[in-house]
Parts: sequence; C-alpha cells; structure tokens
Amino acid sequence: MADHAYVTLATNDSYAKGALVLGSSLQKNTSKKLVVLITPQVSESMRRVLDKVYDVVRVVDVLDSEDSAHLALMERPELGVTLTKLHCWTLTEYTKCVFMDADTVVLQNIDDLFEREELSAAPDPGWPDCFNSGVFVYRPSIETHNQLLQLATDQGSFDGGDQGLLNSFFSTWATKDIHKHLPFIYNLSSISIYSYLPAFKAFGADAKVVHFLGKVKPWNYTYDGKTRTVKGDAHDQILTHPEFLNLWWDIYTSRILPLLTEHGVVKDVATGLKALSGLVCSLAYSCRFCKEEEVTEAVSQMSIGAAEAAPPPPPSVSSEERRERWEQGQVDYMGADSYENIKKKLDAYLQ
Ligand code: UDP
Ligand code: MN
Repeated sequence: MADHAYVTLATNDSYAKGALVLGSSLQKNTSKKLVVLITPQVSESMRRVLDKVYDVVRVVDVLDSEDSAHLALMERPELGVTLTKLHCWTLTEYTKCVFMDADTVVLQNIDDLFEREELSAAPDPGWPDCFNSGVFVYRPSIETHNQLLQLATDQGSFDGGDQGLLNSFFSTWATKDIHKHLPFIYNLSSISIYSYLPAFKAFGADAKVVHFLGKVKPWNYTYDGKTRTVKGDAHDQILTHPEFLNLWWDIYTSRILPLLTEHGVVKDVATGLKALSGLVCSLAYSCRFCKEEEVTEAVSQMSIGAAEAAPPPPPSVSSEERRERWEQGQVDYMGADSYENIKKKLDAYLQ
C-alpha cells in the first residue's frame, strides 16, 4: 500500500552508511515505500546515494524549525538526536509506518508488521519490560508528535535517548496488549547472541531483523575484503558469532560501496573499506552504553573522593576535556559543540 512506509534516520555520514545497508536489505524484501530522515550534517554526495536507495530523502533540521520541536530542543539540548527521531511522527502522508534504526538489517519480508497497531515493538534485551526503540510500528500524527515533545520538555528522557522517552510515553506497553509485543526475531539484538547463546542457536536462524545495538557499530569494524570477514580482537564478544556482522559487510561491499565510489563519497574501494573510528559516534551522540559507562565511572569517582566537592570547570578546556564533558552529557550546544563546529570537524575527519 502506498500509505505505508519504512522509515529510518541518519544525522551524519556514518549512520548514513547504516541507512544504506538497511535500505538495500529492505529493497530486497519489500515493495513498500522507503523513507530516510536526514539532518543538514549529511554530505551532499551521501544524499545523492541515499536518493538511489530510498524513495524519499527528507531533511529535518530541528535547529532551524520554528515549531515546538525547536522549543523543546532549547529546553533540553541533550535530546538533539532524539527529537530528530521523533520527527518520524510528522510523516502524515502515510497512515502507518515502521521505524527502523539505521543500525538494523532486514533478513526476510516483515510487511506483516503493518497489521500491528501503534506502538508495537520488541522487548529490550537489557530490561524486557521496556520495548527496544530500534524497530517499532507507529501511526504518524502531529498530535502525537506534539505530545511527545511536550513530554520531552517536561520530563526529559530517563535514559537520555529516544527509548526512555518513548517508553515513558507508551507506558502501558509492558502489560496492556500482548499484540503490541513483537517477537524478538523482529529486533534481534546482536548482544543477545552471547548473553543467551543456546537461545540464539535454537531460534537465531528465524531472525527477521538484526539490530547492531551498542557503542560499536558494523561500520566501526575493519573488514578484510579478501577473506570476507570482519577483524577484531579476541575480547570482542560479538565476533564469537560474526555471521550477521559479515552479512552487513557483504551488503555494504557488494551493493553500497560501488554506489559510494560512483558518487565520490569514497575515493576508491580500498579507502571505503577503512573503518571509521568510534569518534563520530561519541562526538555526535551519547548512546545508552556510553551512559552506562558514565554511571560506573561516576560511582567509582564517588568512592574515591566522596567528600570532595567537584572543582568548578576551567574557563577554556582542551579538546580531550571537551570530549569527556560531551560524553558526560555536558554539551556546549551553543559554543564549542555547536552543530557548525561539529560539522567542520566531521568534514575534516571524513576527508
Ligand atoms: N542516530 C543518528 N545519529 C547519531 C545517533 C543515532 O542518526 O549520531 C540514529 C540512527 O538511526 C540510530 C538511531 O538514531 O540507529 C538510534 O541510535 P543507536 O542505534 O546508536 O542506538 P542503540 O540502538 O545502540 O541504542
Ligand atoms: Mn540502534
């Protein structure tokens, strides 16, 4: 149906790579419309490639908008990416959509999701009474969008991201209607592979969607094009079952890299294979996993110097300190960490 769409989001060229792999996997498995929301930080050449894979590439700029999203961002600058994700509710040309994180890949047709109601999602592997917001069925509505922004402004998000906010908003998900619980195979988190290996061995073959949840994304790994395997160190648990990671890279090298080369996003295939470091992730977004590390760090600092008051911040800080502060959620959105400065850094980095 024309009024159904799969929707994703990419706020920079790294996540755009994820969106391209996801889009390509959707193209193979559905004939529904594919929509990607992007922000102005995504490069022109990357947009042209996204155009090849997606039916609609829509630029959303929360900073520029004069609506309630902008106001919410002024109140809660830490929710930048989250508020951008909430823009998916404004796609009212569709009656029903499935949102998918840019770090997911579709392995089979999942159009039966459109028979589900808002808000349908799979349990989060870390806290199964919360749903994971990497894959969810929703109904675009300006009213819902505004209510979500209101909640964001009033309360913020308990995990600092969209998942906390959405779980607070759709708070009866855990108990009210089992039809809104998607089977786990619609959002199989890569971390569940090692946290419950026997279940993965029993049911993993039925997976419909894989989600590379967590700090390190597929595009952060190094891939050996000759052996067609992902490299990592021995402690990398995800590599105990690298099938899905290799699958991501398979799609990336066979279907995406040629497009990126053709449109000048990467100079040649060899350069394209060089993985980006985690810098982009930590610069642009604090994910739940980063937050967990913060908590551990805060606790260990507390036990060392519980009685000491925190020293006042120095007037100007080194880039290392700035990055540390960013990771602790102290973002100087109007100054050093403004979108303009981040974009400059990313541009320089990507070149
Ligand atoms: N995202 C983005 N830019 C960012 C961070 C996140 O575009 O800097 C989007 C992207 O679609 C991503 C989603 O928001 O998949 C949720 O973030 P992420 O997947 O990193 O969170 P996790 O699933 O690891 O909790
Ligand atoms: Mn994700």
